[in-house]
Parts: sequence; C-alpha cells; structure tokens
Amino acid sequence: MPELSNRVGTFTDSVIRRMTRISDEYDAINLSQGFPDFDPPREIMDALAKAAYAGPHQYSITFGAENFREALARKQGKAIGRTIDPEEEIVVTCGGTEAMMCAMMTVCNPGDKVLVFSPFYENYGADAILSGADPIYIPLVPPTYHFDPVLLEDGFQQGAKAIIVCNPSNPCGKVFTREELEVIGNMAVKYDAFVITDEVYEHMVYAPNHHTCMASLPGMYEHTITCNSLSKTYSITGWRLGYLIGPAQVIEAAKKVHDFLTVGAAAPLQEAATVGLNFPESYYQELLEKYTGKRKHFLDGLDSIGLKHNVPQGTYFVLVDISQFLALEQFAGYTDLDFCEWMIKNVGVAAVPGSSFFKEEVNHLIRLHFAREEATIDEAIARLGKLQKLLEV
Ligand code: GLN
Repeated sequence: MPELSNRVGTFTDSVIRRMTRISDEYDAINLSQGFPDFDPPREIMDALAKAAYAGPHQYSITFGAENFREALARKQGKAIGRTIDPEEEIVVTCGGTEAMMCAMMTVCNPGDKVLVFSPFYENYGADAILSGADPIYIPLVPPTYHFDPVLLEDGFQQGAKAIIVCNPSNPCGKVFTREELEVIGNMAVKYDAFVITDEVYEHMVYAPNHHTCMASLPGMYEHTITCNSLSKTYSITGWRLGYLIGPAQVIEAAKKVHDFLTVGAAAPLQEAATVGLNFPESYYQELLEKYTGKRKHFLDGLDSIGLKHNVPQGTYFVLVDISQFLALEQFAGYTDLDFCEWMIKNVGVAAVPGSSFFKEEVNHLIRLHFAREEATIDEAIARLGKLQKLLEV
C-alpha cells in the first residue's frame, strides 16, 4: 500500500470520543464526552419535524442560511455589544469543531506559532497539526488556573500569530475575568496577533462568575475570531451547528476555507435551530439554573464519597484527583488512561484521562461531566462510591 501522509502519523484519534466508544461497549454511564442525555427544547424538535416536510432539503448558502445568520447576528450582537453584519461577519460551520479548524486554517501558515493555554481542549492539538501551526503552551496554574502574564508575553514575543482562548475553559472550568481578557487582548494587539476564542460554554457560567466575550472589549473586535456552537446551548450536539464571527476581511477568507471543507451545515437543521436562536432571555436563565442545580448535585455527590475535585466556574466538566487510587499496589504502573479503562469495566462509569488535556506531565486527574439527568448522576455517584472501598483494604 502507498504511504499515508506524514501529518496523520503525528496525532491520535480523539481520546474523548474513544472513551465514549469504550463506554458504549461496556454499557457504562458515560461521563466522558460532554453531551446531555436529555432532549433539546420542544420548540426546536417541533421545528425539525416541520422542516422534514416543508424543507429546506437542499444546500443552504454555503456560509449559512440567511434567517439563521440573521438570528445569530441578533443574539451574538447583544453578547458582543455591537451590530454584527450577517452577510459579512458570520460563517456557519459544521459544529464548533469546524469553526476552530476553519479559524486556524484562515490565519495560520505552516510553521506559524499559536499560543494555547494548558490544560486545553483536545482538538486544538490536532487543529494545530492539520493547519501546520506550532503550538506554544502557556500553563494555567491550578487550583485557580491563572496564567503568568510574563510567560504569556514571552509566547507572544516568539512571534505568535494567534492565541486560542477557550472561555469558559474545557476541561478546567475556568472563566476568564474581564481583567485577564484585557491582559491577553492588549498583548494580542501589541504583538499584532489574532485571538481565536472558543465560547461554546458561554451560557454555563456559574454565579458569581460572569462571561465576557473577548470581541466585546474595546478595540478587540478587529483582532478576534469568535468560534461558537449551538451544541451545548440547545442540547443538540449531534446537529453539528457552529459558527465563526469576526471582522469582514477575516470572514471573507474563512468563507472560502469553510466552503471547500464542507460546503455547508445541514440546511433543515439550520432552519429548525433558528427557532432556538430566537428564544427569549428567559431560556438562557433557565438553562443556567438547570446546570447550576446539576453542578451542585454532582459536586455534593463527589464530596459525599470523598473524591477530591475542582469546582468549575463554568462548563459542565469536573476534574477529579485520582492520586490516592494510583498509589495503591493494584494500580502500580497505571496511567490515567489505564485507570479510565479499568473504571469503565469495573466501576461502570466512563471518564476522560486528564493527560489528554495537559501539555505538562499529568497523570493524576480524570475529567467527568454532569450533563446528565439527576437519577443518572445519583447512579454514577453510587458506582464511583465503590472506589472508596479500594482504600479500605
Ligand atoms: N466538547 C466535548 C467534550 O469535551 C465534546 C465535543 C466533541 O466531541 N466534539 O467532551
């Protein structure tokens, strides 16, 4: 067989998605890949049923159906605090995943450096490789996951073309404060770099924390490519609807990249999801209340069985410390990945190994999520409670 490209040898499949497959194989409770186990809002499902007969069933405009972009411009214009032009400043993509890849391919030449905070969402590594960029990792230091502005500036001084800011941050749940965003933004302007944001958890920010869009800061719109998705906000991760928002010149180029990557996101799904984009403010408040309740339920559960964890400011992810288990004879030589596989088979709960998210050598964390019905969370906690028995021996 002829050889495959060099690039495919330089990254693995997604460990997040792999854990879902293993979880399904063993019928475990899947708290690995983040997606909800409850239905999208009724109005969106009804609109989908309607679209099945009324259409559209053919391609939408490559950069997104007009009504979808208009609704997006209204909703995100409020978040960013300016009028967004739906013709010139938005590209609709197949999920946030394509939005990020499209942003990277739009701004990076092979060999360009891109700053990435560590821990980071797994996709950014592959995004960098596929777009030819070289990541420079800037540590977010636990337990607060703050960054050192000196290290950040050092990264910019190495000639970074862009910085990726996941806010709220998967997997550590950090919500960047306005002041932190200003530090990052000011440096991006000073060193003439782009900020590529990933804001898919924008509506899961727990009080007293507050989500600020990088693009809303004075002078930052021209330097920012905002990537986002409808997956988490409307519980439709399988619909693969995402988008980029940015200055017209950038979006003009991003439209071309997107067009040749995928042509467009599914037309009937854009039609149905437009209903969601037009929801009143109360929808987002209720969503937040729901996840605030789930967060408390899950964290209380973890506390009740003595598992050490961080308290996420945003997202639905929690990092759990497994050091005490890895220290047991039974797990000698285990990596966090081995532990996660063991856990699926023996505890019946799936998690993602923390090492998938860190540039640093980290073997003592696993990521769990709580986008689950309360009864499922209770069952997961009951199962995880069995871990404590290991310590009693
Ligand atoms: N963002 C989700 C996670 O981190 C999954 C997204 C995906 O698999 N595309 O689990």
